[in-house]
Amino acid sequence: MQHKTFCITCRKTSRPISQRINLVNRTHFRIRFGRSLRTTILLGFFVLAAGVANGQTQVAPETALRMLNAQQQQFEKGVVKVADNVFTAVGFHGANTSMIVGTDGVIIVDTLFGPSSASKAAAAFRQYSDKPVKAIIYTHSHGDHIGGASAFVGDEKPDVYATETFGSAEGVNKAVDPVKAKRNVRQFGRNLPPSESTNRGVAPANTEDGDRGKGFLPPTITVPSDGLKTTIAGVEIEFHNGPGETGDAMFIWLPKEKVLLAGDNFYSSFPNLYAIRGTAYRDVLNWSESVAKMATFKPHVVIPGHTMPIQGQDAATTALADYSEAIRSVYDQTVRGINAGKGPDQLAHEVKLPAHLKDKPYLLQFYGSVPHAVRAIYAGLLGWYDGNPTTLNPLEPKLKAKKMADLAGGTQKLTEQMESALAKEEFQWALELSDHVKWLEDADVKLARKVKITALRALAAREYNAPNRNYYLSYANELESGQLSEVWF
Ligand SMILES: [Zn+2]
Repeated sequence: MQHKTFCITCRKTSRPISQRINLVNRTHFRIRFGRSLRTTILLGFFVLAAGVANGQTQVAPETALRMLNAQQQQFEKGVVKVADNVFTAVGFHGANTSMIVGTDGVIIVDTLFGPSSASKAAAAFRQYSDKPVKAIIYTHSHGDHIGGASAFVGDEKPDVYATETFGSAEGVNKAVDPVKAKRNVRQFGRNLPPSESTNRGVAPANTEDGDRGKGFLPPTITVPSDGLKTTIAGVEIEFHNGPGETGDAMFIWLPKEKVLLAGDNFYSSFPNLYAIRGTAYRDVLNWSESVAKMATFKPHVVIPGHTMPIQGQDAATTALADYSEAIRSVYDQTVRGINAGKGPDQLAHEVKLPAHLKDKPYLLQFYGSVPHAVRAIYAGLLGWYDGNPTTLNPLEPKLKAKKMADLAGGTQKLTEQMESALAKEEFQWALELSDHVKWLEDADVKLARKVKITALRALAAREYNAPNRNYYLSYANELESGQLSEVWF
């Protein structure tokens, strides 16, 4: 059964959300010029137009910006009704929170980041039901899904459901928290000025973060590893373990409504199989298998952890099956390359999404990146060593920089090559040369820094992968302000 649904924020057009999603799907490559004129632009053309593109997510600057603006529709603030008794609040913080209305109470699935954002979502839900909260469910332990629980609850003491391994995703690399915090700020562009800010790929750029975790309610009921089927407030509900983005993840299935709540193992973007903020290995194969299992339910609606629900049995099931296949394909291609003796640098350029998947709107690389995933799979399966004995003991950076300068004909010549790379819009090469020049005592290090900043901003402008874009811009700003003097002398 197809549910007729409307987006609260879309009243001006009164367009059913399912149509709106289809519109977004269809028009990802139809870029809006002015108000009404649309034209179809082939991505490949703009890759060429962008100069020497070195990444899979670099296009002409105006295209990158328009694609990111189009993706913005995936987290426009509003409540989406996906079934008679199931509602999802999108865009109240980075992630989604959902409400399932039962006979004598409601169930809340995921609770956003902190009470301030969660209380706004809770108020929006109350327009549809003021029944007490009988249960809270955490799909996984990431902070953007667990920190606002208290805001949904009054005097009642709801059961709080999570997996047996809840929390295992955090803490494994706590020792490097200081640097992870800095990289997190860059990946999400938290310190970017409005003029440089776009979004976070599957979340808006600006979120209320000051009360992180303040509303967390600890789990009271543990979902066993083989899952749980139960009834809460008269609603039949199934909990299925589904490791993926985190090992402690599960998905929720409502058999009567045929709604599947996927948590962060599915959202509208190629998945973030590796986060550049720094993460332990995310088990890519498990992730693919968990999403394949979701597809076997043939849901009429899939509610992602972030971005808009996908409605209609065909659309939802196909999206899940494609997603699983895409992850599996990147894994298999990487493993084949590894076994053929190839290293991560080569594979990061060779491995691509299959042609029939690469343009699917939910697989565009707004958040996750195929090249980063390849490197993560390599390191996750084999560790840092690429198998080439040359890399067992590479030259230390300063000595290598001197040798590079000698090769170029001296520091001055190397500096000229760096400037020439920038002038020719070979931004990645300019970055690599600036990293050599900075080590040379007789070099103009200030010039090298300036080249690096300019190249980073130029790359950022061409990126539609939001973490890459945000990271390039944030790092450029840090370099310019002198915050990175400990690494840039
Ligand atoms: Zn999330």
